[in-house]
Amino acid sequence: MTNRRNFLKNAALLTAGTLLAGKSSFANAATAAPSVHNSMAAGKKIGLQIYSLQGELYKDTPARMQELKKMGYTDLELAGYSKDGKIGGVDMMEFKKMAEDAGLKITSSHVNPPTGEFTKESKASILEFWKKAADDHVKLGCELLIQPMMPKCESYDDAAIICEIFNESGKIIKAAGLPFGYHNHNMEFQRVMTEEEKKKKYSFWEHPGTQIYDLFLKETDPSLVFFELDVYWTVMGQNDPVEYMQKHKDRIKALHIKDRSLFGKSGMMNFEAIFNQMYENGIKYYFVELEPMHTGMTQFEGVKQCADYLLSKPFVK
Ligand code: MG
Repeated sequence: MTNRRNFLKNAALLTAGTLLAGKSSFANAATAAPSVHNSMAAGKKIGLQIYSLQGELYKDTPARMQELKKMGYTDLELAGYSKDGKIGGVDMMEFKKMAEDAGLKITSSHVNPPTGEFTKESKASILEFWKKAADDHVKLGCELLIQPMMPKCESYDDAAIICEIFNESGKIIKAAGLPFGYHNHNMEFQRVMTEEEKKKKYSFWEHPGTQIYDLFLKETDPSLVFFELDVYWTVMGQNDPVEYMQKHKDRIKALHIKDRSLFGKSGMMNFEAIFNQMYENGIKYYFVELEPMHTGMTQFEGVKQCADYLLSKPFVK
């Protein structure tokens, strides 16, 4: 009985000790976490595309920007510019001040011209729009100005006029002092075909025609148009973002880091290979992007989880 009692007592102590040790190391980890987190965050430059925040950013914008800084974000890529000089309804210069007060830098901005139909007729109004938009973004201290949506493109001819207008837009924006970039979704990986190509019969493994993205890369002037590769939408377009980065080192100057939802959950994205290639190419800019969550989680909670994911990964330097 004594032995059994001692055994039970020792077992109880052991369990308590194990729990204590576990709790203690957990407590130490919890205590250590902020400094580790902060030191990692201190060295890492993490951009955020503010589309990820939806309307939540505009409920007390200054405080929300402080929250982003605490999460580890350092740079913002804007969305929602309107030609009256506002971002999401907030005056641009006020927006800039709020970001600076929070310690965030506005590095980039997504802006769409007034029409998605790029034609000889619409060209003049598109170029006029860019002149004003470029001047506004120079005042913001932006480093990149990027068109995020694909104009209507159903043929080689459509691609040709789009690239002509991209080149001329790039020239105007460059003259104002900024580089002009293009951001993709998955529709750029659709193919266009000549009438000749359409007439032929193909086996299911053949891919006739040319991907629109490849036409954009080929027909735009490298000195006037760069590319911001959205790695998730590239995968959704059944292409490999790493392969594109390897093939087009001189053209892809920025990335959208994105998964189907929260980072690392889908199993679709090889972020380690993407980041390794990004560093090898010397790509300086990347921006986290998160689509609307629809899960009960707020966008701010979602972008925090994305930042935590990147801060915890040794391949993010
Ligand atoms: Mg994107």
